[in-house]
Amino acid sequence: MKEKIVYWITGSQTLYGDEVLSHVAAHSEEMASYVNGFMPVTVKYLTTCKSSEEIVSAMRKVNEEDDCVGVIVWCHTFSPAKMWIKGLSLLRKPLCHFATQYNEKLPYETIDMDFMNENQAAHGDRELGYIIARMRLDQKVVVGYYKDAEALKELASWCKAAAGLAFSKTVKVCRFSDNMRGVAVTEGDKVEAHISLGWEVDYYPVGDLVEYVHKVTEKDVDALMEEYAQKYTMATDRIDVVREQARYEIAIERFCSERGYIGIVDHFGSLHGLGQLPGLAIQDLQSKGYGFGAEGDWKIAALGAVMQYMAGQKGTGMMEDYTYDLKDGLCLGAHMLEVSPQFAQTKPEIQVHPLSIGGKGDPARLVFEGISAPEAVAVSMVDMGDRLRLIVQKIELVRYPHKMPKLPVAGLMWKYQPNFKDGVAAWLLAGGAHHTVVSSEISVREMSDLGDMWGMEVVIIDEHTRIDEFKRQLMWSDRIFKSRL
Ligand code: MN
Repeated sequence: MKEKIVYWITGSQTLYGDEVLSHVAAHSEEMASYVNGFMPVTVKYLTTCKSSEEIVSAMRKVNEEDDCVGVIVWCHTFSPAKMWIKGLSLLRKPLCHFATQYNEKLPYETIDMDFMNENQAAHGDRELGYIIARMRLDQKVVVGYYKDAEALKELASWCKAAAGLAFSKTVKVCRFSDNMRGVAVTEGDKVEAHISLGWEVDYYPVGDLVEYVHKVTEKDVDALMEEYAQKYTMATDRIDVVREQARYEIAIERFCSERGYIGIVDHFGSLHGLGQLPGLAIQDLQSKGYGFGAEGDWKIAALGAVMQYMAGQKGTGMMEDYTYDLKDGLCLGAHMLEVSPQFAQTKPEIQVHPLSIGGKGDPARLVFEGISAPEAVAVSMVDMGDRLRLIVQKIELVRYPHKMPKLPVAGLMWKYQPNFKDGVAAWLLAGGAHHTVVSSEISVREMSDLGDMWGMEVVIIDEHTRIDEFKRQLMWSDRIFKSRL
């Protein structure tokens, strides 16, 4: 992500003379370079803008450079905002308004009008804020001294989301099945997702994949089996069953890499020509950064790929709310097979068990207990008929309270925010799906920043959620997003 660039543009004007402007440029350079040390992307000072032409040219550079994912704007001095109108109307990348200063404290003993003219962010930022608000542009506002840890954290979070947005535009999902028959929530408007999120979602008959499976050689399988032996404990003597999964993994990876796919979708009911449901294969592919969606769920595959990128391929993967412990207010999440080993707390074991649905051979899968994490997110994306809605819930990942020796799949357990009852109620009121992408590496703020950049309706469920307010908020939100059409 550090290859991605966020340009720092400072606003000013010519009124103050060259000496002040040289200080403004030097301060901006120093501040951007300090801030860069705390960001997941590269933050680079670009220029100090003093005219409409300069702003237009700066914004063109921001738009045209592929590696540039966004822009931070700050006004060191006053900068009359009419000159920002043409440049801002061209801007097609995320905008962060950083309300900061070169000085943290006022120099009470020595302050004079020279200091006032050179350092007037409180004045200049208001002029900039007005024009951005007047133009109805989406902006992130971060407030604080540029060395303040909290402000830097917020800025870093926005940078991560901006990089996620750029990545999102490159996401291609390969679908070996349509949605599961009868299931509503995994449906969605793929054309709308292509337009608004950049996701390309393509279908292939599973037979196309089967041809790739047949081309995998025993030597290829030997090499991947060695990788498995390094990473996982072989807890089965049915080696042929495991080798079959290795064959699927190699075939899927080849199929995807030849065509640029980073998201994979399959369905246990659409496996003609495959002997088992891909379990271990999909798990290992998720550990390498692929997004996965089961039962035809392309939204989760694409969202998973984006979140994997934002999370640096750690602690992130597809999840499914499965069954509750109502007494202790817990949820056990798992799936038929395909839980990502990025969630493993214990060394994953390769096991082979029957799968009671699908009517195929016993599949090999990784079995482990999931990680604990005080703060994680569960994210769902649902199609409301006229738009996509992003639902982000704060959860706490916890250890299993008791061993589950007969559970033949990997799992995660969590507690909902703000508490079990309201957390579940809010999710249901918002229409959240059973499939989610869970991440221990991404915050609610990062996901909501990304949702805002997408221009999407974002519903947040966290420690502040109160059901009565939440219900009304959903009603307002529904009206607002409907009227956008
Ligand atoms: Mn499922």
